[in-house]
Amino acid sequence: MIIMLLGAPGAGKGTQAVKLASILEIPHISTGDIFRSNIKEGTELGKLAASYINNGKLVPDEVTFSIVEDRLKKPDCANGAILDGFPRTIPQAEMLDRFLASEGKKLDIVVNIVIDEDEIVERLSQRRYCPECKATYHLGHRPPKNGVNCDVCGTEVILRDDDQPDVIQKRFKEYHESTEPLIEYYKAKGNLIESQGVNGIEQSLNNTIRALINRKI
Ligand code: AMP
Repeated sequence: MIIMLLGAPGAGKGTQAVKLASILEIPHISTGDIFRSNIKEGTELGKLAASYINNGKLVPDEVTFSIVEDRLKKPDCANGAILDGFPRTIPQAEMLDRFLASEGKKLDIVVNIVIDEDEIVERLSQRRYCPECKATYHLGHRPPKNGVNCDVCGTEVILRDDDQPDVIQKRFKEYHESTEPLIEYYKAKGNLIESQGVNGIEQSLNNTIRALINRKI
């Protein structure tokens, strides 16, 4: 089963995707994580991606799609995948649909994680990220145990470059212009369900699991 998590920046897609992938035993594909790994390794893709990401812009559709296409062709995706942060534009969604159809598959469910924008701004400014193992923290609700280093691998946690306040505003603008239209796109296809991304990680994940179980599609 191929499930996609949709939502504004900071809605909690990544955190929920990691947990759902582990519960469902299918891979978690995060385009943001793939870009950040490439930026860290200094690859050509990383250099290109950084020039967009650090300005709150989306990486071009063709570049992003080809990464996901390559990833979805890997054998571990035979039983499905959790897509986190992709597609983010209508052209990406159309490319994905065409690719999946050519493989005899489809995007089965799109979960739209709904959350108030003020809450997201607070969440993003408190978010910290482990550049090594990609674990995420919130300084208020879920800080690293010693306040500084990743609980998993010990690396010092950092604020993502694109979580700086001025970049957050640009990311929201991009979200409203390019990504939000996907809600109507998937509603029209009949595979969109909603989950409230509120009251902490556990509650949000429970909302998503409940929505998946109760879905009428
Ligand atoms: P994320 O970790 O999903 O918030 O992604 C971080 C940044 O990577 C985004 O703000 C975009 O600049 C870029 N990015 C991630 N996924 C995509 C995508 N599907 N299309 C274009 N850019 C993306």
